[in-house]
Amino acid sequence: MQIMSRGLPKQKPIEGVKQVIVVASGKGGVGKSTTAVNLALALAANDSSKAVGLLDVDVYGPSIPKMMNLKGSPELSQSNLMRPLLNYGIACMSMGFLVEETAPVVWRGLMVMSAIEKLLRQVDWGQLNYLVVDMPPGTGDVQLSVTQNIPISGAVIVSTPQDIALMDARKGAEMFRKVHVPILGLVQNMSVFQCPKCKQRTHIFGADGARRLARTLDLDVLGDIPLHLNIRETSDTGQPIVFSQPESDEGQLVTFKTTSN
Ligand code: ADP
Repeated sequence: MQIMSRGLPKQKPIEGVKQVIVVASGKGGVGKSTTAVNLALALAANDSSKAVGLLDVDVYGPSIPKMMNLKGSPELSQSNLMRPLLNYGIACMSMGFLVEETAPVVWRGLMVMSAIEKLLRQVDWGQLNYLVVDMPPGTGDVQLSVTQNIPISGAVIVSTPQDIALMDARKGAEMFRKVHVPILGLVQNMSVFQCPKCKQRTHIFGADGARRLARTLDLDVLGDIPLHLNIRETSDTGQPIVFSQPESDEGQLVTFKTTSN
């Protein structure tokens, strides 16, 4: 995937990382983390010579540990940097490795910012071709801080076709444009449900709202993912669908359109 990044003066690259791709959404629960995880796996599967990492900066609700079936605390390197945890060939770092799984994150703004700083600057990634970053939903301080601190090659925006999700996705797109982050495109998630018994297809969240939004904003649609039990189950059991069922229809759908450079 050939992506150009445009650095702002204040931005400093993450040591050893060539391209940063952020995965964002306006609303929570639309499948942003699921997309981030499967995008990381798809990038690695697409070209085994590429090293891929996954950084979860969704500090209030980190889902990467569960989705990537990882537990434990990172070890420290000799230079006191945190070593990512590894599964399915993907190097992962998440706030979930640093706080207890069941502990609610009740933090003041400054603490959140220092956690973000830690995740951005105190991880020993080695050499990575791609770092996929799972952002928190919305367009708040964390998103701004990430976009202002590191050069980002591109953003993927995830939305369901539902009006309320699309409204927020549009705000997300506008934020990236304001801070000069190129938007790679939109992923429409949960667009259709096919009854496993009668095979009838139902557009629970609407038919193609994200496609319409993409047209309005002049963005590409990178993928169109059905609402499917296998996707939910594989996420919940920490065996992402691109890894565990790459040949299934859903696995194919979530491998996205990637071409390596
Ligand atoms: P977000 O990061 O936007 O909050 P998640 O990726 O955590 O959303 O997804 C929320 C829930 O929906 C998870 O339980 C996930 O497994 C499930 N999910 C996401 N996409 C799909 C899909 N296409 N089909 C079925 N379940 C899905």
